[in-house]
Amino acid sequence: MDIGGSMSQFQNSWELYQQSIQNDLDIEMETMAPCSAFPDPASDFDRNIPRICGVCGDKATGFHFNAMTCEGCKGFFRRSMKRKAMFTCPFNGDCKITKDNRRHCQACRLKRCVDIGMMKEFILTDEEVQRKREMIMKRKEEEALKESLKPKLLEEQQRTIDILLEAHRKTYDSTYSDFNQFRPPVRLDSGRRSTSRSSSLMSQGFSSSEDSSDTFSSSPEPRMLSSVELSDDSDESATMSMDFSHLSMLPHVADLVSYSIQKVIGFAKMIPGFKDLTAEDQIALLKSSVIEVIMLRSNQSFSLDDMSWTCGSNDFKYKISDVTQAGHSLDLLEPLVKFQINLKKLNLHEEEHVLLMAICILSPDRPGVQDTALVESIQDHLSAILQTYILCRHPPPGNRLLYPKMIQKLADLRSLNEEHSKQYRCLSFLPEHSMQLTPLVLEVFGNEIS
Ligand SMILES: [Zn+2]
Ligand SMILES: [Zn+2]
Repeated sequence: MDIGGSMSQFQNSWELYQQSIQNDLDIEMETMAPCSAFPDPASDFDRNIPRICGVCGDKATGFHFNAMTCEGCKGFFRRSMKRKAMFTCPFNGDCKITKDNRRHCQACRLKRCVDIGMMKEFILTDEEVQRKREMIMKRKEEEALKESLKPKLLEEQQRTIDILLEAHRKTYDSTYSDFNQFRPPVRLDSGRRSTSRSSSLMSQGFSSSEDSSDTFSSSPEPRMLSSVELSDDSDESATMSMDFSHLSMLPHVADLVSYSIQKVIGFAKMIPGFKDLTAEDQIALLKSSVIEVIMLRSNQSFSLDDMSWTCGSNDFKYKISDVTQAGHSLDLLEPLVKFQINLKKLNLHEEEHVLLMAICILSPDRPGVQDTALVESIQDHLSAILQTYILCRHPPPGNRLLYPKMIQKLADLRSLNEEHSKQYRCLSFLPEHSMQLTPLVLEVFGNEIS
């Protein structure tokens, strides 16, 4: 079978069909049968005719009054029919009509028109033409109205998104190569710690041991929930009396958090409007939001496959047990992992991700903020951009209730923030732990000792 040949034939007929639609949408509507708005594509496929005028051999523009003709012969036929003209051939009545001589004998030209199938029934009356014209106008107006009602991102809004994307790309290195400069992670063999209740919970619920990776990736959530249930029967004392004696991951995690704080500050400074705030308000906003933004941005490295934050090499792959070895308990880590899972499942566009971080930072209700009105106006502006973005750019079904879901994430972050503060206070209360922290961490999260 000659596929090439039949393809090009198909393409030809397709182009013909496309062009005939184009012609029919044109205001020159005499080509159409009065009752049909569109040509029957099947019939055009059948009429695999070269695009040559059947009357004079000139280049044809489509089907006019039921035959393939040029514009000249189309007009000639319509005028002749409207005038009910009677022509007589000055020659023998069998003139051969060509492009060049078609004006010489109207009688033979008209006879040729009828011979190739042109029909006066296909000519619209003036009223029909008027009606069609009005219909097309109305359709165009309706389309214009629909277009104007569609929500659109203003140029200024798009610019803000671009600035935020750029700010995020400048402050989030997805190669994680800087992690090599942190104090190295030290992971204690969980086997040696198996007497500790919290550690055994870890290994049951969250550790990504190779043997269980299959069941993990196929059903991450039940796995999570079962571990949450597990923690429920652990009594208060199990988490409260966490074994702080060897927080082997604390130096590395402290450096990681300190580094992230710097990056979040860098991001915040580039948010349009942020620099219009007083230095005091900038600091107040950053101090209270930075841990939330760190949790938000860490979602980029969070993997649903094994419920870990995977930042490049295996050294920088963080499981729940790594964070407990930095002094945090399940009271924070279980809701945090749930948060990461649910956020991941929203499949946010990068645009939405950066807007959410900016909205999180610009919250007027943070403690210590003086000019709440200004912060609120910036946040309102960012929220409006986010809502418009979702309307215009996020296709269904992912966009369903996406904005309220994102706002809910901000509420979740508040409780995570509160739990983090509680645990941080507890942790930094001991000098042997606070001395592992960095000056920036101590400045931002507080220093219980001094
Ligand atoms: Zn012609
Ligand atoms: Zn003639």
